[in-house]
Amino acid sequence: MNLQNVLNDKYGKSIKDCSNEEIYYSLLEIVKSEAAKKVSNNDKKKIYYISAEFLIGKLLSNNLINLGIYDEIKTILAENGKDICEIEEVEPEPSLGNGGLGRLAACFLDSIATLGLNGSGIGINYHYGLFKQKFKDNLQTEEPNPWIEEKSWLTKTDKTYTINFRGMSVKSRMYDIDVTGYDNCTNKLHLFDIETVDESIVEDGISFDKEDIEKNLTLFLYPDDSDDAGRLLRVYQQYFMVSSGAQLILEECIANGSNLYDLPDYAAIQINDTHPTMVIPELIRLLCERGIELDDAINIVSRTCAYTNHTILAEALEKWPISYLNKAVPQLVPIIEILDDKVRRKFDNEKLAIIDKDDRVHMAHICIHYSYSVNGVASLHTDILKETELSDFYKIYPDKFNNKTNGITFRRWLLHCNPELTKFITSLIGNEFKRNADELKKLAEFADDEKVLKKLLDIKLNCKKDLCEYLKRTQNLDISYDSIFDIQIKRLHEYKRQQLNALYIIHKYLEIKAGKKPSTPITAIFGAKAAPAYIIAQDIIHLILCLQEIINNDPEVSPYLKVVMIENYNVTNAEHLIPACDISEQISLASKEASGTGNMKFMLNGAVTLGTEDGANVEIHDLVGDDNIYIFGDSSETVVKRYADSSYDASSYYEENEDIKAAVDFITSEKLLEVGSEEHLTRLQKELINKDWFMTFPDFDDYIEKKDMAFKDYEDRLTWARKMLINISQAGYFSSDRTIAEYNRDIWHLD
Ligand SMILES: *Cc1c(COP(=O)(O)O)cnc(C)c1O
Repeated sequence: MNLQNVLNDKYGKSIKDCSNEEIYYSLLEIVKSEAAKKVSNNDKKKIYYISAEFLIGKLLSNNLINLGIYDEIKTILAENGKDICEIEEVEPEPSLGNGGLGRLAACFLDSIATLGLNGSGIGINYHYGLFKQKFKDNLQTEEPNPWIEEKSWLTKTDKTYTINFRGMSVKSRMYDIDVTGYDNCTNKLHLFDIETVDESIVEDGISFDKEDIEKNLTLFLYPDDSDDAGRLLRVYQQYFMVSSGAQLILEECIANGSNLYDLPDYAAIQINDTHPTMVIPELIRLLCERGIELDDAINIVSRTCAYTNHTILAEALEKWPISYLNKAVPQLVPIIEILDDKVRRKFDNEKLAIIDKDDRVHMAHICIHYSYSVNGVASLHTDILKETELSDFYKIYPDKFNNKTNGITFRRWLLHCNPELTKFITSLIGNEFKRNADELKKLAEFADDEKVLKKLLDIKLNCKKDLCEYLKRTQNLDISYDSIFDIQIKRLHEYKRQQLNALYIIHKYLEIKAGKKPSTPITAIFGAKAAPAYIIAQDIIHLILCLQEIINNDPEVSPYLKVVMIENYNVTNAEHLIPACDISEQISLASKEASGTGNMKFMLNGAVTLGTEDGANVEIHDLVGDDNIYIFGDSSETVVKRYADSSYDASSYYEENEDIKAAVDFITSEKLLEVGSEEHLTRLQKELINKDWFMTFPDFDDYIEKKDMAFKDYEDRLTWARKMLINISQAGYFSSDRTIAEYNRDIWHLD
């Protein structure tokens, strides 16, 4: 298909005369038809990646790159006075995920298709996704994020399934999004939806009647679960997703020749975190309905499902009261009771039970007992699962446990977001790294080549200029590319410790006020959404926004230090921020971040990590060596010990460390109260002094020391560029192609 022909047919106009919208909708058609031409892999066995979240980002450029027609389209557009970047901006970004977990699922789909594996994603077609974040009076507000248009990447299919809830059934319909592999086959992401959803029930912000399931079921991702109705709605959503998926899987396997007893030869089902857990009892139920004995059904399903654990934060491991399940999906309750009974007969250990003494169902425990593989997402994370969090399970199932360190797709996070760097790398080592990320290692040969290092610095500067222009245009923010870009972008959570970064900023502000000025100005950039019901997270956003207002308007300080918090952090913003970054803030409390994938994207784009020995930072550190990363803070062993013996006392650090006291006191200073809310700032300050559950104070001094050291090292640009180059050259390990090849080799066993 030719762009001009499509435009002629649709609008009767030449490219020059078409609007960006007209060009976008025509490209959408072209991409869909090109994607359909790719052969798909019809091998006997198929991987089903089932996830409540797929944070796919915009798809146009990525698809054009993967189909191999990006350059051609870009050139045609340029010849006609059109900029492909402006066409891209017409596309709305779906927010079908919260953060890392959903983005991982999207990278995995890309790699599954790129490796030519037979696979599909299964999820929910949320109409409004997660909320859109706005700032007002230095506070976060939430709005719906509609993304489905008359013409979009979604294709309506004629596949429908009946989903039964207590006293009601709904009709689930499957919608498909093409997943193009890089120069390989096209797979599908199946998103299920119901037709009775009513967007008009959304009132101000993102509030709506949580009890009207037929109208609200697929409206939002993770509706506010701070109340019973919200939590119950999540159970409805989860069952809706897994029952639709399970029916599809059985249908496809039967069509391929399965007699259902041999289901594991036809399907591997990867359960992404605990949200899809109910697929296990649901599949058992469906197999029994088709005449298979219960014990056989349990055995078959256990050899088909595999589980990925994404967190060791206890509060994130789902436990549903059995009363919820009785209310929404009573048909699963007797099966879950049998699964629990079998465990109790076999093991005399309450901690292994599925239904606890308070009648709550531990979803992760269903997954661990009744799937054949349990994996963590970074080496340290898997070790912690084995040694502490899940040690009782590891003792009984040592062979089930394995590690799969996360990865990212280089198509989006290098080829698409940083074309200039991609071109330069290609000029040095050829094209092969695009298929085989390990090839990036060849860049290390240039570590002492001054010309190469200088070019790397030039490219970084260009990316910083692009970011300045982008933030000015989209958010009316003013920053200077002559400063160090120090970036922390990720969901807002106390364990990720944006508050530690904020305390550093206060510390620096006080130093500048006292006459101690940094040699190169610093721009501290944040982006983060906070869950609407997460009060302290909202308070931390408030603090950062107040600091932004105070500092950027202080003529004594702003030439040396600026703070910007970008609105509505999402994939599109990330694609502009990451190539421009000098220092990548990965400062979670050691042991708490399962892996992180933001850390990998930054490294690949030549940022140097300032981080704790946590998640995949540990593996980054091993790869780049001490000289090319800034590591600080207590080890995970120390942290785990401190929690175990309850020995941490925040207030003593506050009393005894002058710098900590000064920074924390500033939170409720007159200056901040002029622009901020006393309620929020006081609450945050008290939380830090009295609790500081994620232990920012013990790491404070070391953080300041290492961060100032990084800023000092930045002064010697060539030495800095060498660090950048080493980081890029070692990033190949973090390609999701490597991760998916390992999943296939060790868990899925597709041909
Ligand atoms: C990569 C990514 C994340 C995950 O970031 P972490 O730093 O690993 O938490 C979250 N949100 C978006 C939009 C991303 O692209």
